[in-house]
Amino acid sequence: MPTYIILLGPPGCGKGTQAKRLVDLTGIPQVSTGDLFRAMKTMDTPLAREIQAMMARGELIPDATTVSMLADRLEESDCRENGALLDGFPRTIPQAEALDDLLAESGQRVSKVLYLDITEEEAVRRVSGRRSCPTCGRIYHVAFDPPKVAERCDDDGAVLSQRADDQPDVVSERYQLYLEKTAPLADFYRERGILVEISAMRPVDEITPEMVAAIQG
Ligand code: AMP
Repeated sequence: MPTYIILLGPPGCGKGTQAKRLVDLTGIPQVSTGDLFRAMKTMDTPLAREIQAMMARGELIPDATTVSMLADRLEESDCRENGALLDGFPRTIPQAEALDDLLAESGQRVSKVLYLDITEEEAVRRVSGRRSCPTCGRIYHVAFDPPKVAERCDDDGAVLSQRADDQPDVVSERYQLYLEKTAPLADFYRERGILVEISAMRPVDEITPEMVAAIQG
């Protein structure tokens, strides 16, 4: 049976880091709309260019574009078989409603929403030190989880990069958007009785087992 889990929380709460670990521990694929949009960087179409510009400003991509890209991804065989760990989607109430409709078409629904909360100060601190490997996607932090050799990926030696939208002023903008558009989703899912709140102001290793238990519980 496919299982659909939503990872909810502000930028820098650890959704992406935890999702990568949970893939191995649960066998459910990670579906990150941010990663899917970033992968469009190499596409030279007016829509792809517009998306990159909106992302660099920290804005949300319109719901219709985002939902249609997600729907295509959920159609792929790994998701049809195992479901998805949704990382960065939904980010608005209309996206959550669209997700319900999409899953209902195949008799499925969201089973749990894992809500990782952190303060704005912590979000800015984590996100501004974040670096990632452009080749394998592994995520580092310059202070809390640095690579063995400065600015190089431990796994493949590629030069690490910083996301354009991880600059401090853009991070603040993204956090405000999160409060306005995405945070209301916590109540949306709490009312449905599927929200699991997990404090993310703790080391990564402490959080992972709690998430696994919540998914399997
Ligand atoms: P993330 O990697 O989840 O932080 O997403 C990076 C950026 O991609 C966001 O700041 C948005 O510009 C865009 N994005 C990702 N997911 C969504 C979504 N569900 N709705 C709208 N925009 C999104």
